[in-house]
Amino acid sequence: MPAVRSMALRAVDGAGPARHSFMKVLIVGSGGREHALAWKCAQAARVTEVLVAPGNAGTATEPKVRNVEVMADDIQGLVRLAQDEAVDLTIIGPEGPLVMGVVDAFKARGLKCFGPGRKPAQLEGSKAFTKDFLKRHGIPTAASMTFTRETFDPQYVQKQRTPIVVKASGLAAGKGVVICENASEAIATAHSMFDGQFGDAGTEVVIEEFLEGEEASFIVMADGKHILPFASSQDHKRRDDGDHGPNTGGMGAYSPAPVVTPAMHARIMKQVIEPTIKGLEKDGMPYTGFLYAGIMVAPDGTPNVLEFNCRFGDPETQPIMMRLESDLTELCEAALEGRLDKVKAKWDARAALGIVLAAGGYPDTVRRGDVIQGLDDAAKLPGKVFHAGTKLDEDGNIVTNGGRVLCAVGLGTNVREAQREAYALADSIHWNGLQYRRDIGYRAVERERAASRGK
Ligand code: AMP
Repeated sequence: MPAVRSMALRAVDGAGPARHSFMKVLIVGSGGREHALAWKCAQAARVTEVLVAPGNAGTATEPKVRNVEVMADDIQGLVRLAQDEAVDLTIIGPEGPLVMGVVDAFKARGLKCFGPGRKPAQLEGSKAFTKDFLKRHGIPTAASMTFTRETFDPQYVQKQRTPIVVKASGLAAGKGVVICENASEAIATAHSMFDGQFGDAGTEVVIEEFLEGEEASFIVMADGKHILPFASSQDHKRRDDGDHGPNTGGMGAYSPAPVVTPAMHARIMKQVIEPTIKGLEKDGMPYTGFLYAGIMVAPDGTPNVLEFNCRFGDPETQPIMMRLESDLTELCEAALEGRLDKVKAKWDARAALGIVLAAGGYPDTVRRGDVIQGLDDAAKLPGKVFHAGTKLDEDGNIVTNGGRVLCAVGLGTNVREAQREAYALADSIHWNGLQYRRDIGYRAVERERAASRGK
């Protein structure tokens, strides 16, 4: 056995004397979420180095962080990397490798990897699985039916109220949900999904009741049994101000989210998160990892599950990591050892708010390769700019390399103050075609204003 390999195994076994005195971490992915996770892990004194596979220009220039040219969906490549580099802890960012079973592959070789295995990751990988799971365990969600091309019944659609929601069951890069105004639009949408609009993701299609209410995200860590809730957060999915325009991966997020009151927090834990973790354990697929529930809070307060993500949200990760005071690697280790009930997460009392800076054309086809200006000026301001779609070109310039390019995060005594700091950062950065919303956090700011008027 090569020397590096035995070192990796010793570190995993915990037999090496240096287990807690130093640590090497691997973050898988290349977005803003992964930059924030890498930045956070690198802050721990015992962490000697953070590898990011494949990373971006932000992780390439972060102290203690090194990019490695292994793609996030190259499962065997990631396993080899973790073994060769004697990585002590791997944290998976995106859903793709989780749904493909990266955690199972790591486990099979005795490597510590934080995230759910292939089976529980179906909570994100298959909406059909999730709807069935929610119904079986009595967890509130919209009424729905799942169809394949063979079982599809247009008459069922015609009998439903409108608007009506049509969802490709599999992973569709956040694009597989269509809200249809009438039955004929819904039937046509379902057919185009069966015809391969989203590839295999549309083999099964979920037709779902349209829900009214206010959306909230709820993110926890789980260790198979125990749950550690994270600070609340809220994102903005639509591209344009006032929550208009096309759906995106997310144009900004803030934490805490006033919509998640202490009473709502308790209700979501009791009615959604606890029965989900218990249900998965009972079904023989215990869930370890970040779990993200997208919730629609009905006018009567019922927390209906819209979706689950089996990983941390992007851009929610960026403001949440700015507020996390605890060592993230310790929390992940506690989860992997099934002792999340013994640890607490400490949070900065300040609010954090992140604005996504996107390339022109996003969320459709975007131009790449535009030089980003102002990053040095931004680095002198308070707050933090996390990179997503960026890379270093041959001349050493940082250039755009994707739809969501950066996330500028500010902190403040309340969401309004965090918003001010974040916009000062965003306004110092430029490139051709740059677009960002001017109103991230507006609902929370309105609530803050109303609360201060009421005093
Ligand atoms: P999902 O990926 O299922 O969360 O859907 C993406 C977005 O579509 C959500 O964030 C909601 O804004 C919207 N959405 C999904 N399902 C429904 C529903 N049943 N009723 C109303 N809006 C929905």
